[in-house]
Amino acid sequence: MAKKQFKAESKRLLDLMINSIYTHREIFLREIISNASDAIDKLSYKALTDDKVGLSREDFKITLTPDPIARTLTISDNGIGMTKEELEQNLGTIARSGSLQFKKDMDEEKKADVDIIGQFGVGFYSAFMVSDAVTVTSRAYGSDEAWCWESTGADGYTITPAEKDTVGTDVVLHIKADTEEDKYGEFLEQYRLDDLVKKYSDYIHYPIQMLMHKSRRKESPDGAEKDSKVEWEDYDEWETLNSMVPLWQRPKSEVKAEEYNTFYKEHYGDWEDPTATIHLSAEGQVEYKAMLYIPSHAPYDFYTREYQKGLQLYSSGVLIMDKCADLVGDHFRFVKGVVDSADLPLNISREMLQHTRVLQVIAGSLEKKIRAELLRLEKDEREKYEKFWKAFGMQLKYGVVSDYGAHKDALQDLLLFPSSKNGKYTTLGEYVERMAEGQEYIYYACGESAEQLARLPQAERILDKGYEILFLTEEPDQFVVDALGAFREKAFKSVSDDDALPQTEEEKAQSEKKAEENKDVLSFVKETLGDKIKEARVSKILKSGAVCMTADGPVTLEMEKYFRRADPENAGAMKAQRVLELNPDAPVFAALKEAVGSDPEKAKTYAELLYDQALLIAGLPIEDPARYTELVCSLMK
Ligand code: ADP
Repeated sequence: MAKKQFKAESKRLLDLMINSIYTHREIFLREIISNASDAIDKLSYKALTDDKVGLSREDFKITLTPDPIARTLTISDNGIGMTKEELEQNLGTIARSGSLQFKKDMDEEKKADVDIIGQFGVGFYSAFMVSDAVTVTSRAYGSDEAWCWESTGADGYTITPAEKDTVGTDVVLHIKADTEEDKYGEFLEQYRLDDLVKKYSDYIHYPIQMLMHKSRRKESPDGAEKDSKVEWEDYDEWETLNSMVPLWQRPKSEVKAEEYNTFYKEHYGDWEDPTATIHLSAEGQVEYKAMLYIPSHAPYDFYTREYQKGLQLYSSGVLIMDKCADLVGDHFRFVKGVVDSADLPLNISREMLQHTRVLQVIAGSLEKKIRAELLRLEKDEREKYEKFWKAFGMQLKYGVVSDYGAHKDALQDLLLFPSSKNGKYTTLGEYVERMAEGQEYIYYACGESAEQLARLPQAERILDKGYEILFLTEEPDQFVVDALGAFREKAFKSVSDDDALPQTEEEKAQSEKKAEENKDVLSFVKETLGDKIKEARVSKILKSGAVCMTADGPVTLEMEKYFRRADPENAGAMKAQRVLELNPDAPVFAALKEAVGSDPEKAKTYAELLYDQALLIAGLPIEDPARYTELVCSLMK
């Protein structure tokens, strides 16, 4: 029959596996066993609510059958099995994100043998590292037909009808012939297989059994010891190779960091160790064990709709839900892991599950633990935390803003912002502790980059006073600050606010005087610019800069920019009421003033130019760039 071709992505990974000179090719067994265990999980979950399955927990198992003569290793499971379509879908295509990422890294690094193969699950295709042909015979639950998928590697695969009495899957690996360097035959030896299971799959919670060939001393018929020579006999016995204690059920003190990391990488398809692991054993009103991971980087689909949050939920070791979303809040949706509680009824429907108090209690306590762990990282392992922040900080910011600020108290201590202090990240707590004598507010400036913000004309006065400024450079920042309102009773204040620096009575009188003196200039500017601005005013916040743009009313310039990006078609709908602030002490102002009196046409040009400059500094587009250039050129004549 005609061979079908693998999808391009799959073929590439497959080629890598076939030609792999990878030394840890032994991990193929872990991958195949892990698939078998997942398949059993699925059927075992069905069995909880569906009597027709006819299997109970004790009946599930995975068996290994090496046949050194035929040079095959068969891994069988009585899990959910695959239909013809599923064989095609699952084994003809790479589904997992980890594999795709892996492929991407390989492409980028152009390396044929990278250690990442061993670091995370590469799935089913790893079988080709040790086999020159693979046969998968499977019968899906609920179906009375079986199908056989067969492939010798890169040239494609066939799917043909097959015979199989029971539901489940047999994966038959035709082990490669030994070469000078590579003794593939080791994967047919029972003791080697036993070692591999203990090494990589010990905590799989179904028995992994193998018929072990053993010898024993022959009992003498009359029970008496003969002094003649001892006789031995061979016999076969099924043995369970794994201890079946899941990692999270073991005491924390007995689990090595490496075991946590390996579990994480295998289960969540990551190639990098997690930033942190939280292993909990909770007693009290609800008893549960949990093993949570904070990844080191955001999955490629993290900030998309495709990403699904959730933890695996077990009840006494039985998987009841693969991604239980109710266990983690949206702001912590990056957390991966497992929760196992005997207090959850086994055969509960997913709909009912959401409403159980047990789940809510667990979710509440996980929330606290995750927060505490993040705070610990922030305090004790700052570099790690900053890496975490770069990956997931955006999520925490959205968390502050979402649900009408319901989570802001829990999250505010976790926020980091770049600051004018050494150009580093700071927490709000650190900022407040460093606040100068007499400083009333937490200052911030919004814009594209910290570098630009440090040179903002309206920042000058504040920096000169020795006050620190938070540089808000990300989209939700302005909303975060608005949602928080204040931190430890210190209100946030934009450096662009008219009253950013509280004035003394004397300063106030001064400003008023200057405004009065320059009334004509200000109204000239307002008249020239018309509706473009709400007002032209004498600035209280500029020091050496000539001009800047601020906003009056509820919509700030940053919000205007945000809406402009979010909905370019309706850019005008959410427009800030612009205020052009002029510095009466700047030389340019003197020139303007002079022109207002002597050459109104020139003064108009100046007013327009100052307006455009203020837009540029604020990071807003100039409305008519061609006109702007004309004006600049006219000055050069
Ligand atoms: P992953 O397990 O990460 O999804 P694999 O390449 O290892 O990637 O497997 C692809 C898919 O094939 C699995 O997701 C599963 O749906 C299916 N599969 C593999 N082995 C089995 C099995 N023994 N029983 C049922 N389905 C299986």
